[in-house]
Amino acid sequence: MKNIKNLIEKLYFQSNLTDDELIILLTQRKSDDSEYLYELARKRQAEHYGNKVFIRGLVETSSYCKNDCFYCGLRRSNKCAQRYRLSKEQILSCCDEGHPLGFRTFVLQGGEDTFYTDNVLCDIISSIKNKYSDCAVTLSLGERSFESYKKLFEAGADRYLLRHETASPEHYSKLHPGEMSYNNRMECIKNLKSIGFQTGCGFMVGTPFQTMENIVRDLRFIKTFAPHMVGIGPFIAHHDTPFKDERQGSSELTLFLIAVIRLLLPAILLPATTALGTASKDGREKGVLAGANVLMPNLSPKDVRDKYLLYDNKLNSGEEAAENIRRLKQSIKDIGYEIVTDRGDSKAE
Ligand code: SAH
Repeated sequence: MKNIKNLIEKLYFQSNLTDDELIILLTQRKSDDSEYLYELARKRQAEHYGNKVFIRGLVETSSYCKNDCFYCGLRRSNKCAQRYRLSKEQILSCCDEGHPLGFRTFVLQGGEDTFYTDNVLCDIISSIKNKYSDCAVTLSLGERSFESYKKLFEAGADRYLLRHETASPEHYSKLHPGEMSYNNRMECIKNLKSIGFQTGCGFMVGTPFQTMENIVRDLRFIKTFAPHMVGIGPFIAHHDTPFKDERQGSSELTLFLIAVIRLLLPAILLPATTALGTASKDGREKGVLAGANVLMPNLSPKDVRDKYLLYDNKLNSGEEAAENIRRLKQSIKDIGYEIVTDRGDSKAE
């Protein structure tokens, strides 16, 4: 049997492991192995980004969604969800609030809301870019056609986050209704990269039916696809979804996987997500210490924050609120890192 420490060193030096080695690493790790893994992940992170941590202002544009993902509180079948959508003026005023706080990336994330046609979105994107030419615009608005993505890119959007959710088709079909397609999601992610977006993929840790083999497939997909960003966070149940009684994903495994992904693709952007912060005390700080280098504080208008509920107990005040950035800066400083005012583009090719 291979020694776990040797596997961690191999991963560090070669930025890769075989699938069999990854399974051994994930299933046979002990807690003191994690510390060593995190140390090497921080080394790689420092080589590319020093001690800098980038921030993104997250604007949750709409809680309407035409999809029905089994895990998500915004699913269309959730009749209890409170629905809202932000106007162009509301989105711009979020940016007006965020810019003086030091945000140089605005992430527009939302349910798949048909109100946001290509024309509506292109107008919003170009207005932000005209007003704030020093800022990047990231979109996280789900699946759209190649032509639509191309228009959004041409309107000035820089980046697009579309988590693949799982790289195993049979697992995908257990998390989504039959009308949603694994192939289409993968096609969308590939289209985004080919159009020229800095592209992000990712998955939830601990979704129902997920096996370690599924996670190894996710890691293999990530390594092969080589995105610019990878977002992962623990699954957290929402009480009005079919998965309401399912167990929460492990924060500890999420941290371990953040470090593994940092070593697989040393130069990428890796957020310590809100779900990680929700699932574990000091989750974001622990994420940074495991190799994450991005935080995404909430910049949505305060009166809609409790309506964008992907899962239960989602944090929406405190340090994850953009207006409390000073506190977040301090807690990141306390662990030896520095939040910077920077677009924070990916150093990955
Ligand atoms: N509609 C967009 C944005 C979805 S929300 C899209 O399809 O990309 C962003 C991410 O939140 C999702 O990709 C999913 O991975 C995550 N998410 C959704 N429900 C969740 C839950 N119950 N627990 C943890 N993460 C969740």
